[in-house]
Amino acid sequence: MNKVLSFFKDNFDESILIRNIRVYGWKFEYDHLLVSSLTKYLFEDLDIIENIAPETNTNRDGRKKKNFYICVHDTGDTDYDHTAGFWSNVVKVQDWELGRYEASFQYVTGDDGIYHNIPDDEIGYHAGDSTYFSYDLIDTGLSGENEKPVVSISDDGYYMVDGVKSQLLAPRAKLTRKGEVKYDRIARTDEINSQGVLVKNVNGKYYIGVTYYNNDYALIANRGGNNNSVGIESCINVGSDIYLIWQRTAKLVAKLLDENNLCFDDVKQHHYFSGKNCPQTMRMNNLWNHFMELVKFEYQILKFKQEGYKISLKVNDPDVKENGRIVKREFDYINKKKVAFSIITEFEGKIESLELEKEI
Ligand SMILES: [Zn+2]
Repeated sequence: MNKVLSFFKDNFDESILIRNIRVYGWKFEYDHLLVSSLTKYLFEDLDIIENIAPETNTNRDGRKKKNFYICVHDTGDTDYDHTAGFWSNVVKVQDWELGRYEASFQYVTGDDGIYHNIPDDEIGYHAGDSTYFSYDLIDTGLSGENEKPVVSISDDGYYMVDGVKSQLLAPRAKLTRKGEVKYDRIARTDEINSQGVLVKNVNGKYYIGVTYYNNDYALIANRGGNNNSVGIESCINVGSDIYLIWQRTAKLVAKLLDENNLCFDDVKQHHYFSGKNCPQTMRMNNLWNHFMELVKFEYQILKFKQEGYKISLKVNDPDVKENGRIVKREFDYINKKKVAFSIITEFEGKIESLELEKEI
């Protein structure tokens, strides 16, 4: 068996992920039966619709940037017809039901497609961390061997790396409203956003990124969202196939990681840059790690394809689409059945296949 088929075999789940999730939005919430696909890889090409905002738009200022991150959002807009096409158009025309629209993002994904709105090397307005601060690494004065150290804050307000105090002051917790200082004190470790503070080990020396205290969410967050990430909005509107959207988003993230020479740790939630609870539906249902598994799977398959492997799915069942999406009617999940399918590879003229079976 070749390495592609071995990869599918070794990473195959015989049962589906099926879970009732709550979908969050600022207008209304709803319940959705989330059902996974035959495999973590989505058997379709990444089809990106170019719908670039005009250079005259104020949400596309044209400033160039270097990408250190991919920033994942969800729209929080559960309205039935607020699809990717809808949101892509809002960014382009800068107008919608609430008036002028000043935000922008490089991509928006939905079950109606993937749209490209702002060139990847230009600044967008999506991460909530302003466009005045960029990615940077600041020497903490500390050294060590840990590749994934943990950052905390000392009682007197300095960043600590793996419990050792650095020379670097953490941002203060400070809230000013209408010119009046409501509070101004040393921030605590539990006020660091849930994805943490950027910390890197470069040749045995620890560096920390540029951070700030975000008043809106009362959390310490990282700079470099708007200025150094590729922003992806994912649509979670009523009636949409959310698992398909997450798979498409994962496929797009994998491509962007490859193109920008980034690693999995560089995929961040919007939360990382502002403290906002976004992508809220993934976060609230504890599915971020599952999403990252989809990204890793797509990335590996992308690498195999770059080596020259052609990979396809053969399935013949009314409840499964050609791309591997399971589309049973909701009430049918009480009666599970086994579906047989094949994954077929072609490499240098040689065709091989792997037979698998999944209970759906
Ligand atoms: Zn967001």
